[in-house]
This record gives sequence, C-alpha cells and structure tokens, in this order.
Amino acid sequence: MQLHVVYGGTFDPVHRGHIAVAECVADTLGCRVDLLPAADPPHRAAPGASASQRAAMLHLAVAGRPQLHVDERELRRAGASYTVDTLSELRSEIGPRPSLIWVLGADALRGLASWKHWQRLLELGHLLAVERQGHPLDAEGLAEHAPAVAAELLPRRRAVAALTHTAAGSFAVLRPGRPLPESASEVRRRLAEGGDWRALLAPAVADYIAGNGLYGVERV
Ligand code: ATP
Repeated sequence: MQLHVVYGGTFDPVHRGHIAVAECVADTLGCRVDLLPAADPPHRAAPGASASQRAAMLHLAVAGRPQLHVDERELRRAGASYTVDTLSELRSEIGPRPSLIWVLGADALRGLASWKHWQRLLELGHLLAVERQGHPLDAEGLAEHAPAVAAELLPRRRAVAALTHTAAGSFAVLRPGRPLPESASEVRRRLAEGGDWRALLAPAVADYIAGNGLYGVERV
C-alpha cells in the first residue's frame, strides 16, 4: 500500500521536538515524512520569522535526514492556508487509494474542532496524534478537554500500523520514545528573556537565527 505522510505546523522556529516527532513517525511507519510549513497567517500577527525563513530553517533541520523532506505547497498558494485545502490537494495528486496521514501534536488535536471543515479531514486522510508533555492523549483526557473531537475520533481509533492499510478515516496515537519538552514558544521566550535557546534547536537552525537576526536576536 502506498503511503503519504505529512506533518504540518508553523515551525516558528523548527525545534528538536519537531524533528524527533517526524523521525519517530518515519521510523514507526518506515516511510518518508514531509514537513509542511504554514504560510503567513493572513488575519493575525505574522510569526516571528517569515514563511520563507521558516521554510529555510526547516530545510536546514532536515539536512542529512533522508527520511525527512520539506513540502512548501502552502507557501506557494495565495490566500489563507487551511489544512482541509492542503489535504484535498494532496488527495487529488496521489489518487484515492494511497494512505494519506496528517501528523499533529496532542495540543493541536485538542483544538481540532476550531479548524475549517475539520470532520472532512477524516474523509481525506487519517489523523496521527503524537503525545506531548502536558497533553496526555488518553480517552478520558480527550473527552474532557475536547468532547466533540473525542466523539468523532475515539470510535475511529486504530493501532498506528493500521493507518497504512486504508486510505482515510482512522485515528491513531503515537507515543514518542522519550519525552519531548521542546516548544517554539519556549524557544521564543528564551530568545526574548534570556536562556539557552540554542539547546532546543539544531545547530544550523540556531546559526540561521543568529545570522539573520531573527526574533530580535542581535545579528552575528
Ligand atoms: P508553539 O509553542 O508556538 O505553540 P509548537 O512548538 O507547538 O509552537 P508548531 O509549529 O505549532 O510548534 O507545531 C507543529 C505541530 O507539532 C503541532 O501539531 C504541535 O502540536 C506539534 N508539536 C510541536 N512540538 C511538539 C512536541 N514537543 N511534542 C509533540 N508534538 C509537538
């Protein structure tokens, strides 16, 4: 069965947690994972780095990791970027049969009901949620924090490997082998307030931030 796995996010900036998630998915499913940066959001404050800078950092972060790629399609599309449009575009490209998997973190999963046409995502592909510190993904927690999401997803829950057997419509949870405490907001907080922000990033990404004076850092 053909498999297409996509991991979307703002990646402002891409950190070690993102790369660990992508590698864990790639290793577990034995496939390539495409990291897909969101375009600059039209209706809210721009992220700390522009879309092309965030994409450039992603390219640096995946360099030398053959299972990981960057898909810049949302940057090429005009207007708002909605996951449902991206999955629909991907589904038209790959055809109806291959398994299409959208990877997201546990916090993003809890907010899923605010995404445009979120139930349609499951007609287009599968959802693979990755546990994140502070956001456990047990059924009770999900039902408490996101009742509509729990009602839609829990009946669809399968083992991770089962997502490769069908084209769309299932949900699975992946637990990374180590805790992944990194977050982009913590990177930005350390950049603004002081703290070892480099420790949360791939060295090439940290050098890019310093070299381009991003997030208010003094250019070196
Ligand atoms: P912020 O701290 O600004 O919310 P972030 O670290 O969550 O940023 P995003 O670009 O928003 O970064 O994340 C992209 C996707 O990766 C989201 O689905 C998010 O839940 C997931 N993710 C990010 N960091 C982790 C992590 N440490 N463990 C598991 N999932 C993560």
